[in-house]
Amino acid sequence: MTDIFAPTETTVPPAGQSSPQASAMLDNWRQLPISQQPTWQDPSVYSASVKELSTLPPLVFAGEVDVLRDRLAAAAQGKAFLLQGGDCAETFEGATADRISARVRTILQMAVVLTYGASLPVIKMGRMAGQFAKPRSSNDETREGVTLPAYRGDMVNGYEFTPESRGHDASRMVKAYHTSASTLNLIRAFTQGGFADLRLVHHWNKGFTANPAHSRYESLAGEIDRAVRFMDACGTDFEALKRVEFFASHEALLLDYERALTRTDSRTGLPYDTSAHFLWIGERTRDIDSAHIDFLSRVRNPIGVKLGPNTSPDDALALIDKLDPNREPGRLTFITRMGAGNIREKLPRLVEKVTDSGAQVLWVSDPMHGNTVTSPNGYKTRNFDDVMDEVRGFFEVHNSLGTFPGGLHVEMTGDDVAECLGGADPVDQEAFLERYESVCDPRLNHMQSLEMAFLVAGALSKR
Ligand code: PEP
Ligand code: MN
Repeated sequence: MTDIFAPTETTVPPAGQSSPQASAMLDNWRQLPISQQPTWQDPSVYSASVKELSTLPPLVFAGEVDVLRDRLAAAAQGKAFLLQGGDCAETFEGATADRISARVRTILQMAVVLTYGASLPVIKMGRMAGQFAKPRSSNDETREGVTLPAYRGDMVNGYEFTPESRGHDASRMVKAYHTSASTLNLIRAFTQGGFADLRLVHHWNKGFTANPAHSRYESLAGEIDRAVRFMDACGTDFEALKRVEFFASHEALLLDYERALTRTDSRTGLPYDTSAHFLWIGERTRDIDSAHIDFLSRVRNPIGVKLGPNTSPDDALALIDKLDPNREPGRLTFITRMGAGNIREKLPRLVEKVTDSGAQVLWVSDPMHGNTVTSPNGYKTRNFDDVMDEVRGFFEVHNSLGTFPGGLHVEMTGDDVAECLGGADPVDQEAFLERYESVCDPRLNHMQSLEMAFLVAGALSKR
């Protein structure tokens, strides 16, 4: 296994390349404009927390990160599909065995539907084990005349609406690290220890039998079962089916946290952000001259960037130049989140210009963030039909341009929550009163997630 415990104070090159540059470049972001950062209350707690984080073991290994980059390169070339899913915001309280296993199981189910339906390898990735910091459109929140700092994710402050809880407490970064470590430990146990064995494909299904997606999944699982039994009878070695690769990802928002977990790989001498395999830069922090772009340009991990409806082709090209100067397939993923009403009009220009430039990025659809609305009874929600429509638009655009629609990025959970409206067993806004659990954006529930997987599998197999 790769040794990445070496101190970070070695010479590091820019953009993860090998060339002698000052190690100080990893801290270059500190001089640049930065948005969406906390205002930590106590400087001594802040220094102690950052110091502690920088001495803790890495959460992921450089070798695993390299494997992921290879997998994403295959997806960029049309030979695999990325499935990335999880909570909008993970919480410390929600990091229980039941919740984590339900989410992993749902991602595995979605992946099986996609793999079987599209005959393509599926790269499985959680918005998990680190998705604890949130950008917000407003610094404050007012309830019944009381104004307090907005909730910015459990890594920064608490959701509870009290002055104590909403203060920015840097020791939460350390708690986020430990919660990520225990989450990742469970994910590794599930995916390496037999739970993800393809022969348990029925076992992952949850009990919501009334829902149409349930029986559809059961019949697909039955077909897989028969195929597996057939191969078994032929003497196939099933060792490989027992384990699956599962990668961790989150938005790299709090650069103090990301910097403290960045280590130099002694094998290659290159810096890896060991807080996750894959990191993405959000729509609100992707300004070309921003601290976020600078910092992530210097780590070797594969990087994603969210692109909203106002992204110009020149913005996209500038991002490629900064983040993927060597045009290395697998390095850069563009996660488009245009909105169902925009995607067919706005995506083609971007894809055309990027393709013309010779860059080979991976195109992924986030059909959630461009389709957020407020329900008449006041909940932040998304219509399942809009979400599905954006995915359809994403496929239409890529199919018409001859480019590869290489992945899906969704906010989802394995539980039977009511947060997005509609679906085959429709969620209505009254259900929000009982089953709306998200502390941030609304997620697809277990069955809506499966329905989405069937839609995408159908679209992929028709290509
Ligand atoms: C998110 O993924 O939760 C998010 C905030 O997305 P975006 O940056 O696309 O708005
Ligand atoms: Mn979100």
